[in-house]
Amino acid sequence: MTVNVLFAARAENWDTYRAPLSDALDRAGVAADLRTDFPPELVDYIVYAPSSPLRDFTPFTRLRAVLSLWAGVETITGNRTLGVPLARMVDDGLTRGMVEWVTGHVMRHHLGMDAQITGQDGVWRKAIPPLAADRPVTILGLGELGRACGETLAALGFPVTGWSRSPKSIPGLLCLHGPDGLTAALDSAQILVLLLPDTPATTNVLNAETLARLPRGATVINPGRGTLIDDDALLAALDAGQVGHATLDVFRTEPLPADHPYWAHPRVTVTPHIASETRAETASQAIAENIRRGEAAEPFLHLVDRDLGY
Ligand code: NDP
Repeated sequence: MTVNVLFAARAENWDTYRAPLSDALDRAGVAADLRTDFPPELVDYIVYAPSSPLRDFTPFTRLRAVLSLWAGVETITGNRTLGVPLARMVDDGLTRGMVEWVTGHVMRHHLGMDAQITGQDGVWRKAIPPLAADRPVTILGLGELGRACGETLAALGFPVTGWSRSPKSIPGLLCLHGPDGLTAALDSAQILVLLLPDTPATTNVLNAETLARLPRGATVINPGRGTLIDDDALLAALDAGQVGHATLDVFRTEPLPADHPYWAHPRVTVTPHIASETRAETASQAIAENIRRGEAAEPFLHLVDRDLGY
């Protein structure tokens, strides 16, 4: 039987995904009619990006599941009109991209590369960076992305502490959880990486109080979500020297307005939400596998816990 799959995203996403998604569905053995437009009552699955204007799922009366193209599902998880399973994106290409971006910025800050690149002024300043073994890194969030980043950094020799909601055991990482764990995770964090989802429980996890726990001059790297940081508190911590540098990829408002103080701050690097992107080839395979599972009455992969919000 043919399943009807609605692709609900921006037009340019359709151009990117149409062929790989069709191929992946074929290879998964799913007979699918894949389109950007269907009468809602005929749709079996929705492949969804938050850029889609679709907000009311009530007319989709035979919908089996919504499959997000994004890892972050904060714009849809609280949608009360959605009464079917919601799966988020876990994609090896997305994970590898995040590992590369995080590792690159950790190494940049660890080695003091900014000073080398901008300080070509004829002065022979010989500042030897410590070895990775003497640069503790903390990652808030030990999910698909945080864990992969932590394992890579640990393999490079950094002492890595990770923090999550539930207890974890990951070889090579010191794993902490809960409120007490957060305090201990921050105390040693010369470089702090935020890879938490945007939920009510993670809003402003980095605030005046938690920023004060960091070692003086710590680096903050945020590829998670803008809501994780109290922006005023971070700017105050930067001005006071408590935070030495912040590299920020995500913001409460995106694109970040041109007059936002982050743009002008000498110790802030803004990147335009490019830390990692869902990769069409591998992401299409993940979507096709979940549709295959739905049709085979097997459990969906990577379901969102709608109560927790991630
Ligand atoms: P996961 O859901 O796999 O992992 C989330 C992690 O956060 C888990 O370890 C979870 O703990 C932890 N966590 C959640 N809530 C809390 C809490 N209240 N206290 C402590 N820990 C908590 O997500 P991913 O790793 O796949 O992605 C993380 C985020 O990265 C996404 O939600 C998205 O916002 C962002 N992202 C950014 C991109 C970019 O380009 N900038 C690209 C892709 C994603 P536990 O393990 O106990 O459940």
